[in-house]
Amino acid sequence: MSTALAAWLTEHHDAVLERWSAAIVAARTSNGHRVATDTQGGVVVQSAPPLTAAALAPIYHALIDATRGDHVNLREQLYAMVQLEQAGIPLPELLQFSFQLRRTTWEVMRENGLQPEQQFTLMADLETVLEQSVAYISQFWADQVDSAMQERMQEVTFLTERMATAVEEADRTAVNLTALNDTAARLAACMEHADPDEVLEVVSAQIMSLFEPQHLSVWLDDTPRSGETATRLLVLRVWGASVPELAQVQLNLTTAGTDAGEDPVLRAYLLGETVLELEPTADTHPRWQWHLPDHGIVAVPLIAHDRANGVVLVQASNAAAQFTLARQKLLIGLVSQLAIALDNVRLYQQVLSFNTDLNQLVEQRSGELAAEKERLQALQEISLEVSSSLDVDVLLKSSLHALADIVRAPYGSIMLVDRETDQLESRAVLGFPEVDTYVRFPMGDGVAGWVAFNKKPALIPDVTTDERWVMRPNQQMTGKQGGSMVAVPLIAHQEVLGVLTLSHTERDYFNADHLRLLTAAAGTIAVGVYNANLYTTIASTVAERSDALQRQRAESTHITSIMQSLTDGVIVCDIYGAVQLVNLATERLLMRPIEELLLQNLDDILRSLLTTRRDDLPLQDLLDRALDSEGAPRIFETIIEQHNLILNLKLSPVLSGEDDEMIGAILTIRDTTREAVADRLKTEFISTMSHELRTPMTAIKGFTQLMVMGNLGPLSETQMELMTTIQQNSERMIAIINDVLELTKIESGEIDLHMRPIHMAEALSGVMTDLAPRSAQRSHNLTLGIPPGLPLVLADATQLHKILYNLVSNAIKYTPEGGTVTVDAHEVQLADLPLKVRDRILADRTYLQINVRDTGVGISAEDQERIFDRFYRTENSLKIEAGGTGLGLSLARPLINLMGGEIWVESTLGEGSTFSFVLYAASHRI
Ligand code: ADP
Repeated sequence: MSTALAAWLTEHHDAVLERWSAAIVAARTSNGHRVATDTQGGVVVQSAPPLTAAALAPIYHALIDATRGDHVNLREQLYAMVQLEQAGIPLPELLQFSFQLRRTTWEVMRENGLQPEQQFTLMADLETVLEQSVAYISQFWADQVDSAMQERMQEVTFLTERMATAVEEADRTAVNLTALNDTAARLAACMEHADPDEVLEVVSAQIMSLFEPQHLSVWLDDTPRSGETATRLLVLRVWGASVPELAQVQLNLTTAGTDAGEDPVLRAYLLGETVLELEPTADTHPRWQWHLPDHGIVAVPLIAHDRANGVVLVQASNAAAQFTLARQKLLIGLVSQLAIALDNVRLYQQVLSFNTDLNQLVEQRSGELAAEKERLQALQEISLEVSSSLDVDVLLKSSLHALADIVRAPYGSIMLVDRETDQLESRAVLGFPEVDTYVRFPMGDGVAGWVAFNKKPALIPDVTTDERWVMRPNQQMTGKQGGSMVAVPLIAHQEVLGVLTLSHTERDYFNADHLRLLTAAAGTIAVGVYNANLYTTIASTVAERSDALQRQRAESTHITSIMQSLTDGVIVCDIYGAVQLVNLATERLLMRPIEELLLQNLDDILRSLLTTRRDDLPLQDLLDRALDSEGAPRIFETIIEQHNLILNLKLSPVLSGEDDEMIGAILTIRDTTREAVADRLKTEFISTMSHELRTPMTAIKGFTQLMVMGNLGPLSETQMELMTTIQQNSERMIAIINDVLELTKIESGEIDLHMRPIHMAEALSGVMTDLAPRSAQRSHNLTLGIPPGLPLVLADATQLHKILYNLVSNAIKYTPEGGTVTVDAHEVQLADLPLKVRDRILADRTYLQINVRDTGVGISAEDQERIFDRFYRTENSLKIEAGGTGLGLSLARPLINLMGGEIWVESTLGEGSTFSFVLYAASHRI
């Protein structure tokens, strides 16, 4: 105990502790330790715990306590320090701490000027405490090392034991593996023979030698094939001791409930797990017929494809010793090898049997293919025949023979439908004598008739029992009275063309294969027949056509030569006006080459010929409407003068002979120069003569007038009467001569028309004024009706006056006293005109119609056309009174025609007449 030391240490607590800590840190640093934690620069340096003054303080206090005689605290602190060794402070360093404390204390004492004796005393006390501390540290250290050693020793012992067990295990596994390997090698060897007995023998021998049991048996369920449910488990083989009745043991699987599972064999089978009864007593299970009393049992299931199909049962007197866990595994391994080997044998046998089946199938199929090939060849032959022959009989005969050959049918026929009688007629026959070859069947009669009618094949196993079959009259003689038959329809393009039949004396001879073949062949034959028929039809049509063509050619050559030899020119065009034909005469008359004309449109040719009189031959109008209102072809005619020739041009439609359809137009050109010259001479003669006559007639008229007027002296009554008659006749003759001169002018084309728009009111007013006195004389009701806004008419004023004068004066002349004469004019559409008028005028313009109506004597239907002839006068009550030359209307008509119009009359005898004419409305002048 040193209270002095305790007091000193307490007093210099801070200084000593500070210096001690610094000394420790310095020593440790020089030893390569880092005292302070340093994480700067990202590096963590493993270091001992920091031994700062604060950390050392508890030890310092414990030392002070120990100095006072209390060591408990010091022991605790030092024990904790020794524990620190694990944290990095090794024992030598720990021991060094005490020396460093001693030196530090010494230094502090010296520095504090402590007396040397005092120093020694205190230091001696300190030494004691420090020695004690070192002793503590050493003891604690030794304790610690000792306990660590103990622990290590235990670990080593444990590991050694483990190693020994592992080696033993490895030995056992090696033995087991060797046994399993050996078994596998033997099993592989016997797979060659695929003999299950051999497999059983190999595995059982191995089990017997390895385990030496008293009994070994293999059990199998009754349905080894997968997918089926097994009903019983039976003993297959037994080795070693056998229970006498074992052969009869059958474990029923269907009734085996959960309690039946008490039987280890059943249990192993049902659960698919190894069942062990290693120490059964003799009377535990009297029910197990197979059990050897006092023997242990191991029942291992035979598992293939995740399903148990049997059990291997082992019984041994020393089972418990024999069947350790490792040995159980070996047994299970052997049994599973047995299971796999048995399954492989089964599979191998299955493959073998598959192979045999396959071989059989291949053989069968090859046979079928050979037959099929034969059939196809037959079909190909038929096809060849069909494509190479258009002779139906050749085709049918060869097809029938080919089919009968392949089917090996002795009889057969092909019948075709005769379209005229709708009956089946045999066309190719096989197997029947010549006399019997021709047969006819109405549709629906007999087998063939039935097949044709129903468009279905018939397979008849026995004809005698088939009601469709009809025996042919002379069949009895041929000897073929029964047997089987097959018949198929020949159908092409949905039409039944005939029936193919094959028959055989045997019943049931034909089968579905035959039917298939015949049906296939029937299609080909039908196409052949169809094509041949088609060919015949086409050939005859072609022959007919070519005859007709020949005839047509001859005809056309004939017509062409006639045409070419015509003296008149002919140009024919189609409905579009394109020139189709020009004859030689045309070339001569028009003085233009045929080649040039042929390239033109007839319309252009007409245009160049007619120039301003283009409307004379309106081609387009004709092509639009070929026939007139009465169904007669419309014909237009005109005369032109060209190259000193006077040509008559006539345009008419060309109608097809069959249905009057227009196929074009024809222009005929006739040279009328000679006729025209003669005509002109005649006209000139008449003209000259008329002129010559007019002069003396004028003189006669003048003198008679003078005499009648009494200028040449008085005349007796008779003389007066005669002179008056002479005067009247001479006036009439002058009128006739004037009219004739007018007529010759028109005919010779000398008349000059000055066409201009004229108002009808203007034209009529003069006429009405001139004739009003004559009308008044006869007490007529003379009226004039002209609607306002009436278009002007296009006409020559002088000629129009003449025409109107003639018509109105006729109306007055041929209407008895008190009658009515009406004159009116109106615009008219083509559709409103009488058909016969419409045919004669152009369609594309507007007309003005002028009517002169009277309630006079009328004109009979026969006379209505003739009154326009020269000098024609009808018989009527007013004929004499009216006087006249019969030339007025014959002048009016050509004049109106020249102006593009038409005149006509409608009249009823005794009731009156209406003379009408149309002229172009001026606004439509082209
Ligand atoms: P004409 O000088 O005789 O009148 P036309 O040529 O003018 O000669 O007439 C020819 C004939 O037509 C007449 O002779 C007459 O018989 C008949 N005719 C003309 N106009 C009428 C009429 N309005 N009524 C009855 N008959 C008529």
